[in-house]
Amino acid sequence: MRIGYGYDVHRLVPGRPLILGGVHIEHTVGLEGHSDADVLAHAVADAVLGAAAMGDIGDHFPDTDPAYAGAESLLLLRHAVQLVREAGYEIANIDSVIIAQAPKMKPYKEEMRKNLAAATGLTPDQLNVKATTEEGLGFTGEKKGIAAKAVCLLLRTE
Ligand code: MG
Repeated sequence: MRIGYGYDVHRLVPGRPLILGGVHIEHTVGLEGHSDADVLAHAVADAVLGAAAMGDIGDHFPDTDPAYAGAESLLLLRHAVQLVREAGYEIANIDSVIIAQAPKMKPYKEEMRKNLAAATGLTPDQLNVKATTEEGLGFTGEKKGIAAKAVCLLLRTE
């Protein structure tokens, strides 16, 4: 068994969509980034790659590469999972947390879970999405950005 950890932050800015776990959320601001800036999908992808000691999504999908401009992050996640499977691992489970002061994530968490499970080839009971605020503290509390963290457990298939 191998454990991996992922962490990501994106800045909240006007005029951008807010996409988390592949769910488009109606909100006054969205996340800035080269891709669709889906901070949750990025944290999950880094957890998966990290568990296999295969670097991070910046190594595999550089934000200097025009091919990934506006990229749908669920596709990047799907690709990361494929690399890890080809290296001889299967995913046992993934847990994740979104850290955001607003908006309320509760109405969207189940759809995020389904999207991320589909992108990783897992059943929804193998993939969890949580959300929390930081009680108004720090950059998430001040609504300057959204953070996400994830852990992934891999099993050797051979
Ligand atoms: Mg990112």
